[in-house]
Amino acid sequence: MLMLALAACTARQPKMEDECLYSASETRFSFWSNAAEQMEVLIYDDALSPQPSVVPLTKGTNDFWTASVKGDLAGKYYTVRSFQNSEWGLESPGIFAKAVSVNGQKAAIIDLAKTNPEGWEKDVRPAMPDPTDIVVYETHLRDFTMAPNSGIKHKGKFLALTEEETDVYDEGWRLSTGIDHLKELGITHLQILPFFDYGSIDETKAAEGSRLNAERSYNWGYDPVNYNAPEGGYSTNPYDPACRIREAKQMIQALHAAGIRVVMDVVYNHTYDATGCALGRVVPQYFYRLNADGTYANGSGCGNETASDHEMMRRFMVESVCYWAREYHIDGFRFDLMGIHDQETMRQIRAALDEIDPTILTYGEGWAAMSPAYPYDSLAMKQWTYKMPRVGAFSDDIRNALIGSPFDHERGFASGNPSSAKDVMRGLIACPEWSGEPMQHVSYITCHDNYCLRDRIDVSAIGETEETKIRMNKLAQTAVLVSQGMTFLYGGEELYRTKRGIDNSYQSPDSINIIPWENKAKYNDLFEYYRQMIAIRRAHKGFRLGTAELVQGHVEFMPLMENDNENLIVYRINNLEGIDSAKSLIVLLNGGAKIAEFPVPEAVYTILAHDGQADVNGLGQVEAGWIVVEPYSATILAEY
Ligand code: CA
Repeated sequence: MLMLALAACTARQPKMEDECLYSASETRFSFWSNAAEQMEVLIYDDALSPQPSVVPLTKGTNDFWTASVKGDLAGKYYTVRSFQNSEWGLESPGIFAKAVSVNGQKAAIIDLAKTNPEGWEKDVRPAMPDPTDIVVYETHLRDFTMAPNSGIKHKGKFLALTEEETDVYDEGWRLSTGIDHLKELGITHLQILPFFDYGSIDETKAAEGSRLNAERSYNWGYDPVNYNAPEGGYSTNPYDPACRIREAKQMIQALHAAGIRVVMDVVYNHTYDATGCALGRVVPQYFYRLNADGTYANGSGCGNETASDHEMMRRFMVESVCYWAREYHIDGFRFDLMGIHDQETMRQIRAALDEIDPTILTYGEGWAAMSPAYPYDSLAMKQWTYKMPRVGAFSDDIRNALIGSPFDHERGFASGNPSSAKDVMRGLIACPEWSGEPMQHVSYITCHDNYCLRDRIDVSAIGETEETKIRMNKLAQTAVLVSQGMTFLYGGEELYRTKRGIDNSYQSPDSINIIPWENKAKYNDLFEYYRQMIAIRRAHKGFRLGTAELVQGHVEFMPLMENDNENLIVYRINNLEGIDSAKSLIVLLNGGAKIAEFPVPEAVYTILAHDGQADVNGLGQVEAGWIVVEPYSATILAEY
């Protein structure tokens, strides 16, 4: 009985997300502030109307300020403002605006149910058996679709990812692009760079669509304005508040229909600015961490950092991810600079998402840009990942080991630096010293940050031929795709993209950021290799055993013979009866310029990969003996 009473009590707690509850007969407003002396909502007949009608809010329980307005308010707009310290603060759309005017300046009153595309009630998350089975592909909506030859009609828009049967023609080849390309590649999850409403792009310019404006319309979008509304620049009409919502849902629906789950890149760690954004206007300073001298702490390197350790910031984050998961059917969240958040918040986010669907993914960057103003031991930093079950962190360990650190131009193991071999091995078994379970280790070598793989190899492997660099590229990605963690690929690497040496392309023009579809023909061998390696991973459970215990029980690194090649890693997964179609798998990674040889145990092996070629059905067979591994390449053997 006591528990029931408590549950009922919790259910009555006002929710931050209920700032505007619309019905055809009345609209209820509710805003939290523990500091306001007065609050009011300003209701506008349209987005540009200068004269609002002012509705005072009444302070109720738990510092929520509420009002109800009779009548059908659909199509109107509102802002909220607070009176404290003897003055009225600036207006904002509120911190939980779900629909907004162009550039997110006002919140819009709409009937959310009317934003659902046809068939939305039948939209389901594609099946996902196990988190380590995941292959995430990260892209930006413009990178993926803006190329003139993408064959896509709605370039740079949510709707671009609803278009099927799009092609590129090149050198006599007809090759799929867009969503069909993702299906062909075989990925399971698409991670899209921020698509909540961000501030760096003027949506009115993006809507004009001239070529010049299009060139100025690129930004990664790590500058949040309205966390709970989609970005207008990705909609076909940013002036219609329902349009961006409907089109974002259409995109997710189409990806789900293609068997692909959708991961949202979320940036709760800072806002576009600390005084102009809703978080800073509705309750000044509360949602941010401050330094001892009262200035804004800056762990994000973007001028401010939010305070997930403050109760209502934590609740905001929990409710926000749940809102996207429920309303938009989002399947996963990638937390930008997760190390700024505290561990307890991440655990509560995990628990709240579990109530919706435990297969919803959570992972992030287990670091900050600068020092957060909070005790390090309590932050969601990579080294504490094991304290946040089922929350993953990007492994800069395996990244730096394979291709070198982004802070220098040194080579990594895959480009000829044997000193990184031990760290590659640690990465292959998902760095158990911090990861807890393998799925908490996001294995990757490149993402939108820093150089793309081709450029990274170009700046470090000076003097090598393109042929050699492509071998290094394949080798590095092979290690990612046979590692026990959750795998992550940066979109376009499979097409040998280059960003022409720009390692921070956050506001570079499309010409730098676009995926060059013509490369699908020119570097088709590379694309095929990636495709086959993804298929090999997905066909062999041995590469994704799933638990730290199984990894410990089945994986070994075979000792090298005396005087053997220090550029060679021999990674073996044994005793796989009942787990995999293969009895054992052997991966030989040769990160050196010379042929390596290694004696493998007596058996008949199917060769899955060798000398820069890969085939899930096998390239041929080999009897036990000395296995030859060509320079900068992987040989993968399966014993059936
Ligand atoms: Ca925007």
